Amino acid sequence: MSVERPVVFRNGLVLTMDDAHTVLPGADVLVIGGRIAEVGHHLSAPDDAEEIDASGGIVMPGMIDTHRHLWQTAMRGYGTDWTLTQYFVWYYLESGRHFRPEDIHAGNLLGAIEAIDAGVTTTVDWSHGLQTPQHADAAVDALEAVPGRFVLAYGNIQQGPWEWTTSDGFRDFHRRRVENGRLAGFQLAFDVTGDPAFPEKAAFEVARELGVNVTTHAGVWGATNDEGIRLMYENGFMTPGTVYVHAATLSSDSYHRIAATGGSVSVSTESEQSAGQGYPPTWQLRRHGVPVSLSMDTSVWWSGDLFSAMRTTLSADRSREHLEAHGRQETVTHHALRAEQVVDWATRGGAKALGLDAELGALAPGRKADVVLIKNDDSPAMFPILNAYGHVVFQAQRGDVHTVVIDGRVVKRDGKLVGVDLDAARSKVSSTVDHLRETLGEEAWLKGQNPDLPQSELFDNPYQYTDYSAGEAQWKH
Ligand SMILES: [Zn+2]
Repeated sequence: MSVERPVVFRNGLVLTMDDAHTVLPGADVLVIGGRIAEVGHHLSAPDDAEEIDASGGIVMPGMIDTHRHLWQTAMRGYGTDWTLTQYFVWYYLESGRHFRPEDIHAGNLLGAIEAIDAGVTTTVDWSHGLQTPQHADAAVDALEAVPGRFVLAYGNIQQGPWEWTTSDGFRDFHRRRVENGRLAGFQLAFDVTGDPAFPEKAAFEVARELGVNVTTHAGVWGATNDEGIRLMYENGFMTPGTVYVHAATLSSDSYHRIAATGGSVSVSTESEQSAGQGYPPTWQLRRHGVPVSLSMDTSVWWSGDLFSAMRTTLSADRSREHLEAHGRQETVTHHALRAEQVVDWATRGGAKALGLDAELGALAPGRKADVVLIKNDDSPAMFPILNAYGHVVFQAQRGDVHTVVIDGRVVKRDGKLVGVDLDAARSKVSSTVDHLRETLGEEAWLKGQNPDLPQSELFDNPYQYTDYSAGEAQWKH
């Protein structure tokens, strides 16, 4: 990326997320040549530096999402009432194959813009709709059109990983767009079903040969389990840098294997809570010393920002601690998980998971300049800021993202995206929605987003002698 004009954030509450988690009130952050030059008080800046007033706001490193199916952003909110079952039927079995390269492009474009707008400066595009190399080209074209950092996790749910990873088309794509491209990183994205024949072995061998990491949905209720982990371990494929997504229904033994081999887990709390992969596992991961990063999974249910990921992750972890304690007739008097740790997972945790922690994840001299200013003078929720980490996790939201700098370049200023064509993304996504709606037919389209409601039983209430179910209250006696 090009080298931009210097930028200096003035007088902000700076969460450096450096090794000591230094917090500096009323401090400046100076960016020169795409890197953090200095963090401190009353910094002198070059004459041509752009001055950004950060007073009343929080300055922090750009957030990092380690697992998002960006292509599905074209279907934003469609699966609101889905479980994982409807998701699998819709994308894997019935409708996913109707996505043309331009549809992958449209979803990626909108999702990539959404990420940077929300202060997510690095996103792993867990792109498992790449049915052909043309689809993959379309995905990367979109990522390269948006000024953020994107890691492509290449996948294809329409074939076995042993098929697409060994195809000439994939190899050619890798040479053209990865070895000679502008991506921030590259992973292979596929799941290990636990089939004792371990057909995924061939795909792991390709990853090893190319020197790239694997990211895999592991510990997903009804889909992947301890057997997949065991097969990976016994075949020597649980390598450092492997990212295990969800890891919500695994045994202690599998968590030990992940921790011992240098892997990490990408936790998508909102997804695990609603779709049913298993209980959000941070309460277990902490006990097993497994490194954590955060992710949003897919905008087919939830918006793509890490504020909600941080908030739900902290809440789900505490919720579980209370529940477990109450089961033992005990009371939790002190929380084990703090907001500070969750902000760490959203920044440093993501950088570590991607092997980019020497460059990203902290505001420290020499690091690449991915900086977010959270500030909203019109919001009553942005004052007073007494607990900086708590404010990021429990008070702030994506509308409070005031300024975003990526690689030293201002991509959002005063709450407005800079140099990004949102209208073009909007019109491409509209075409994709029209295409899918036409291809599926109106009945299937409507049925797809309205799953049948299961029978649920209403308990008889012995204290209730008024029947409110009728149009107006009726005395029973
Ligand atoms: Zn996923």
